Amino acid sequence: MAMLDRAARALFLSELVSGMALTFRYMFREKATINYPFEKGPLSPRFRGEHALRRYANGEERCIACKLCEAICPAQAITIEAEPREDGSRRTTRYDIDMTKCIYCGLCQESCPVDAIVEGPNFEFAAETREELMYNKAKLLANGDRWEAEIAANLQADAPYR
Ligand code: SF4
Ligand code: SF4
Repeated sequence: MAMLDRAARALFLSELVSGMALTFRYMFREKATINYPFEKGPLSPRFRGEHALRRYANGEERCIACKLCEAICPAQAITIEAEPREDGSRRTTRYDIDMTKCIYCGLCQESCPVDAIVEGPNFEFAAETREELMYNKAKLLANGDRWEAEIAANLQADAPYR
């Protein structure tokens, strides 16, 4: 009986020591978690977040209303209407994305010949109502204006691999 007690005590002590060793080993390692939202993890230049419509540096809209993005969208989330302007250029009069339908496949961005519609780096666009996720052209252009620096840098970083 006494021998069994000694063996149990020895086993307990060895488990305790190995447990403490494991604790101390991890205590001084870099933490795997981050203090979100105050800290944010790195994002790939190919990250597919919130959509944006971009402009050229002179402020002109890039979109030429070719409707390729609308045609390719597998979720049928994009609705475009267009008409020619007085100068003969073709521009959208309506560009809507139903973000509740979007599956973030990136095909709209891939199909765009002028890099107008893109999925930017913003992933913090949760909303409380369905209506807030019905994006129109003004909202998409505002997103483009807000994120242009990051979007342009990401497109440039990814360009050698395309
Ligand atoms: S990311 Fe895909 S599903 Fe979403 S709007 Fe673009 S093409 Fe449609
Ligand atoms: S966003 Fe691009 S693909 Fe879509 S209509 Fe405009 S130019 Fe065409």
